Amino acid sequence: MPAAASDHPDGTADAATSVTTDEPADFASLGLHPALLQALDDLGYEEPTPIQRRAIPPLLAGRDLLGQAATGTGKTAAFALPILQLLADRAEPDDRPAALVLVPTRELAMQVSQAVHRYGRRLEARVLPVYGGQPIRHQLRALARGVDVVVATPGRAVDHLARGTLDLEALGVVVLDEADEMLDMGFAEDLESILSQTPDTHQTMLFSATMPGRIAGMSKRHLDDPVRVTLGAAGAGEAGQPDIRQLAYVVTRATKPAALGRVLDVEAPEAAIVFCGTRTEVDDLTDTMNGRGYRAEALHGGMDQEQRDRVMERLRNQTADLLVATDVAARGLDIDHLTHVINYDVPSAPESYVHRIGRVGRAGREGVAITLVEPRQHRLVKAIERHTRRKMDIDRIPTVADLHARRMELTRANLREALLDEQSTDRFRAVVESLSDEFDLVDIALAAVRVAHESLAGEDDAQELPEVSLRNEGGGGGKPPRGGSGKPSKGGRPSSSERGGDMARLFVSAGRQAGIRPADLVGAIAGESSVSGREIGAIEITRNFSLVEVPVAKADEIITALKHSTIKGRKVKVRHDQKR
Ligand code: AMP
Repeated sequence: MPAAASDHPDGTADAATSVTTDEPADFASLGLHPALLQALDDLGYEEPTPIQRRAIPPLLAGRDLLGQAATGTGKTAAFALPILQLLADRAEPDDRPAALVLVPTRELAMQVSQAVHRYGRRLEARVLPVYGGQPIRHQLRALARGVDVVVATPGRAVDHLARGTLDLEALGVVVLDEADEMLDMGFAEDLESILSQTPDTHQTMLFSATMPGRIAGMSKRHLDDPVRVTLGAAGAGEAGQPDIRQLAYVVTRATKPAALGRVLDVEAPEAAIVFCGTRTEVDDLTDTMNGRGYRAEALHGGMDQEQRDRVMERLRNQTADLLVATDVAARGLDIDHLTHVINYDVPSAPESYVHRIGRVGRAGREGVAITLVEPRQHRLVKAIERHTRRKMDIDRIPTVADLHARRMELTRANLREALLDEQSTDRFRAVVESLSDEFDLVDIALAAVRVAHESLAGEDDAQELPEVSLRNEGGGGGKPPRGGSGKPSKGGRPSSSERGGDMARLFVSAGRQAGIRPADLVGAIAGESSVSGREIGAIEITRNFSLVEVPVAKADEIITALKHSTIKGRKVKVRHDQKR
């Protein structure tokens, strides 16, 4: 039996083993370098995802790995952290790449290299994305200066190998990410050619969402006694699931805050918990939702007991409508009037989904679980469906008409309640009687309903949200023809147009260091322009700047308006974001 398998019984399991997300495990116990632990803490990650928990220890021990995991499971960190650890442990500085990550598309090359860069920030890791469609000169210069991790599409990697500009001699790790996609896109030959030029001593990690025969063949040829990590395996279905209505909405990242608002408006939950992946996301979403007029409270692992108690108290006495929490913080939480669980992100493992939604539908009460799914996350949804043995209802996001209908329904329900309770309306009789001299009774009733409705429903500025669907749904979709080295690929990854067709991203020259919070940006934009808070999409705040998604049609107006105003007492520069 391989040593790592007995050392890490949960980390080296095969498809038959399921993961328990309640296992106490933190990043430090995985054996990671302090600089990496610090970077993860900076990002607000509270605990490793199942794939990270299971893959990182054997990878740090130098094993090869065959991982079956989809996007959204945290697999990028699962391979990036061991790579970065290798860099930290390098005896001497070396300008030749220590790791080569092969990915199917240009978008993924950019995403993965950004992720590796983020995790390796404190080690000053030099990461270079290498893909077709970008002038090769730029890549040549960067490679010549020295690079630690190259993230490349296979075609472009082959080009560089042919030119002699990619030196694989010092390579410690090769990662094949989304191997099935790479094969589907016709990169098999390129992959074989690249792998044949790597030194024998390197460690190989192969990740694939599916495991067709060709992947098995590839792993036989290129992996040496690999650890197998399989996520989302079937067989752990929950037989006695409580009565929970489970639905999912497909939304782009940019429209998520607006979509969450719409869901809350339509569902009108008595009390809801919204789950996010990281502490930072919890804080930002709480700010955003408060900026949009909801009473949200944050709960995460960075808070002490006293703060947690205060939050729970506000939820119990209903001064807060909404709890925004990480999985860790919500563990053991028991809120008896909770009616809705909302997954702001699809959880990284089906088991966490079951844990999350298990917080509603208790004691025979009906519960609702709503999941916001991004178009590329169809595999995570499938894994959850397999695990729970239940299909998720994938619904269109409620429209403005749905919202209006729902508000009208609430008004009707309120009036009906008041009509059944004779006592409470009696003191208004004089008002009706005095008006009835002048007006028809039906007209008086209509006016009363209108006043009641308007005071209940609030301002009516709802905007239609774009309708999007899951990628590869129903097996259709069609793979793009082989991307080759020179053409940017259109397949498999989200593009900027997918982030919400009619949204633009603005760069604002002030960030966390200037004390900027999402509510400040929403406030400034809504206060200075004709844009309402609800039209503002995703907000990302970094240390030195912020990015805000706004309707394309109003972007210029906002830029002009903010030129003449201040945010948090300071002048800021606002322009269209060029970077992505
Ligand atoms: P991936 O499956 O690698 O595409 O990752 C999906 C998302 O999960 C990314 O946005 C990561 O930043 C995030 N993520 C990865 N690991 C963790 C973690 N341990 N805690 C919270 N978020 C994570």
